[in-house]
Amino acid sequence: MIPPLAFVTRLDVEEEQTWLEILRRAMPEERILPFRDLTGEERRLAEIAIVANPDPADVAALSGLSWIHSLWAGVERLVLELGVTAPPIVRLVDPELSRVMGEAVLAWTYYLQRDMPAYRVSQAEKRWAPRDYRHPSEITVGLLGMGALGSEAARRLMDAGFRVQGWSRSRKDLAEIVTLSGEDGLDTLLSTSDITVCLLPLTVETRGLLNFERLKRMPEGASLINFARGAIIVADDLIRVLESGHLDHAVLDVFEREPLEASSPFWTHPKVTVLPHISAPTTPSSAARIVAGNIAAWRRTGSLPQTVDRIRGY
Ligand code: NAP
Repeated sequence: MIPPLAFVTRLDVEEEQTWLEILRRAMPEERILPFRDLTGEERRLAEIAIVANPDPADVAALSGLSWIHSLWAGVERLVLELGVTAPPIVRLVDPELSRVMGEAVLAWTYYLQRDMPAYRVSQAEKRWAPRDYRHPSEITVGLLGMGALGSEAARRLMDAGFRVQGWSRSRKDLAEIVTLSGEDGLDTLLSTSDITVCLLPLTVETRGLLNFERLKRMPEGASLINFARGAIIVADDLIRVLESGHLDHAVLDVFEREPLEASSPFWTHPKVTVLPHISAPTTPSSAARIVAGNIAAWRRTGSLPQTVDRIRGY
């Protein structure tokens, strides 16, 4: 008999049950059991683990694993906690997730383009203060990260008429979008974008990437959106650059520690919009279909979609 799929998670019981039901519906031919319900033999024989914030000790107890499927797109914590010797990790790459993130990038780009933070302030002060309209074609949006999420966000922004440029590790060859790479490319993107949107993974190379010097390279009055991971930005440096009047606004969805602690100056800063990590939630039904497809393909052909590169960290 084929061993069961191990579902390893630290989600609360209700959330775990919801995911189990959706996963079982997507894979009626598979037996999917939560880690705690696996017998000792099943823990030894399980070939595949589906994980969402798993306890690394539980994953390590599955000694026969061939590979691991994450239910999330961001796997920085998983990679760190499981270490380089863990079995190959497949992360969630879901067009629906890219669509949701593209929508969020477009929504908060419009929020900045239409000066909503400034109107929020003038309303609080009962001030009637119309501002000049800026057409999207006058605004350059720079995307840090041109992967599954960044490239879809770029497409949505282009369709809406914004000028778009992107930065990634490898140079892309995309029609109509200026794509940059390397330190020089980062310099160019930061210094020529009115709005910079971060969609990079958190790795050894990107931790603290947006520090005081780099934030100061952004043009006077520019804004920043971080929908990736909090630790890519040095929080104290961002506060300094905002207070100096150099940057206009920051939309932050992600933070080094979440939930954001009550003592954080971000909560009350007039130049900061705080969001509770909601820019692109996983859609369970489509995620389960993707996971089911990858598992069925592996059973049929033995091959996996692209796995996470442990050295690069994403
Ligand atoms: P992805 O497909 O792996 O794309 C990552 C992009 O970043 C690629 O373009 C990659 O360059 C680039 N990159 C990585 N390291 C770099 C470096 N050192 N220098 C320059 N470019 C670098 O990842 P994704 O699916 O788009 O997701 C990106 C991140 O979004 C995730 O890691 C996660 O942290 C975050 N996320 C947030 C939410 C939320 O709700 N806030 C939801 C989902 C995901 P190459 O193209 O050359 O490889």
